[in-house]
Amino acid sequence: MRLKRLWPGKRTFGYVAVLAASYFLALFAGWTAIGAQIDDYFYDFLLRLNPPAPIHSRGVIVALDDASFAEGGVRQERTILAQTLERVAAAKPKAVAVDIILHDRQDRAEDDRLAGALRQIPNLVLATDKSRDGWEDPRPEFLHTGVALGHAIADQSHRDGVTRAIPLEQIGFRQRRWAIALEAFKFAKGVPDPQESPADVRVGDTLIPAPGQGQRQLRIRYAPGALQIPAGDLGKPQVAAQLKDKVVFVGITSLSFTRDRVTPPDGIQLSGVEVHLQAFETMERGQFLTDASHITEIVGCALVVALAGCIFAFLEGWPAYLLGALLLFGTHATPYLAFRSGTVLPYVTLLASAWLSVAAAASYQSFVVRRQLRKSETERTRYRQAIHFVTHEMRSPLTAIQGSSELISRYAMNDEKRRQIATMINSESKRLARMIQTFLDVERLSDGQMELKREPFSVNELVDSCAVRVRPLADRKSIRLTVEAPVEGELVGDRELMEYAVYNLLTNAVKYSPAETEVHVSSHSEGDLLRLSVRDQGMGMDAKELKQIFQRFYRTKRAEASGEVGTGIGLSIVEQIVTHHGGRMEVTSAPGKGSCFTVVLPQKV
Ligand code: ADP
Repeated sequence: MRLKRLWPGKRTFGYVAVLAASYFLALFAGWTAIGAQIDDYFYDFLLRLNPPAPIHSRGVIVALDDASFAEGGVRQERTILAQTLERVAAAKPKAVAVDIILHDRQDRAEDDRLAGALRQIPNLVLATDKSRDGWEDPRPEFLHTGVALGHAIADQSHRDGVTRAIPLEQIGFRQRRWAIALEAFKFAKGVPDPQESPADVRVGDTLIPAPGQGQRQLRIRYAPGALQIPAGDLGKPQVAAQLKDKVVFVGITSLSFTRDRVTPPDGIQLSGVEVHLQAFETMERGQFLTDASHITEIVGCALVVALAGCIFAFLEGWPAYLLGALLLFGTHATPYLAFRSGTVLPYVTLLASAWLSVAAAASYQSFVVRRQLRKSETERTRYRQAIHFVTHEMRSPLTAIQGSSELISRYAMNDEKRRQIATMINSESKRLARMIQTFLDVERLSDGQMELKREPFSVNELVDSCAVRVRPLADRKSIRLTVEAPVEGELVGDRELMEYAVYNLLTNAVKYSPAETEVHVSSHSEGDLLRLSVRDQGMGMDAKELKQIFQRFYRTKRAEASGEVGTGIGLSIVEQIVTHHGGRMEVTSAPGKGSCFTVVLPQKV
């Protein structure tokens, strides 16, 4: 496995930015209403997948069902309740929670009987509800010392109508009421009132994790098989005997009379009292489910994104993809494992941050790799073309030198001829040396390895010496080379490089022009600037070609077709030389009409 070098600045910044964007997008996705709804569905799925362990519950429901109301109907509710409670009390339960609001006065005799029944129950919890005007507490005659009041809200107006949790407490009108399930649990354990801390509620030795003072929630672990006895059956002694030492939840289960129908995650409706019994059993079981805090969510997701980022920053190829896949698998498994140990993790944010960051990191990596491939490809082409340049451009002086030296050694010749040949060998080898020098200088200049010479030289002389060298080429093609009246200007810089540049422009003008045309050199001052132009009447270029001519090794199709040899490197060198002298190139051209190359340079003042 090969480790990558860390990327340098700009690319690292881009990479981090892409990862940060996927992180915030994931958090945003999880915190939208749709995200929260998906989290809920996933929670329901996990809940079904992990049913709670069966226990010997002490909770029993005494149900006021349809049969109980068969005779008296709802008008006799208090009498029916009183009779039921008398029978319950006789069975000596541990505690009784009545999930019926006894707030309003009804028939005097009925109420008296009910009050009498309630007095016989020692550990009694009565239901109360918070309305707009205040608490709907039971009438004073139903309260005796030791009676606990608990709120009976079971249906927690959740966005999709499914009750996954009940509020453990309700606060209002300067009172705080625990849920009747919690009050009943307190009696079942025989301990004093619940004690609270910011993170939990303690009942005896049971610690219920429920953070968020004022809005504590209890997630219910619904379990099938709760014991439910119809109130009407309590007349039978063997049935009533089942209530001994139990915690009895008395409530209305009759579909026609009950106030609250609750939908648990499995969709099979329950009455409020059944939900309270389930809440009670959840507390008895002691295996609580708590929501992971926002901090855990934010840090956890950041960790996932950072991991994805590191994987694709330090590894490449299949090891990176393998680890990326493992990370995805891990983030899918984590909510499940966390659920089993009692923590409800946000599903959408976690998964979205894993998927988005892995996808972003992987595509960024493949993008970078592809770019690197392209870069090495162009470097290879450049190298090949550089070799091409060396072989092409250098071959002609070399051939001349070779041929001439052979002439001298093979044939006897007079002194005059020998001197001519020697001069030619000398000038050709100098040209060769200059060519190599220029090539190397420009390479080193562009690498920043070399400082430019700074000597003053005259523009006139520069143009003249170039014209002298080009004239024979122009003559051969019957091209007129005209140099306009000279400018008395001086430049500062590397004369040899500058001569190479101007010479190159002139040879190009001659090379890419047909016979019987004119190449015109002109120069004039413009403030501190000197403009030196080479205008021809040659093949010209179109706008698209113009954009590329300064690229190394670029040649126009027209130039290739003309049969003129070239490497496409000259102009790139010219541009580099001019820019290193603090100047710029300007070109105008039209296909078939000709071109004008202008060097704009700062003058020596
Ligand atoms: P070379 O002449 O060796 O091909 P250059 O870098 O000097 O390389 O020029 C690049 C290309 O620009 C040429 O191949 C040619 O297509 C185009 N070009 C340069 N000068 C002229 C000109 N005066 N007229 C038309 N095309 C030109």
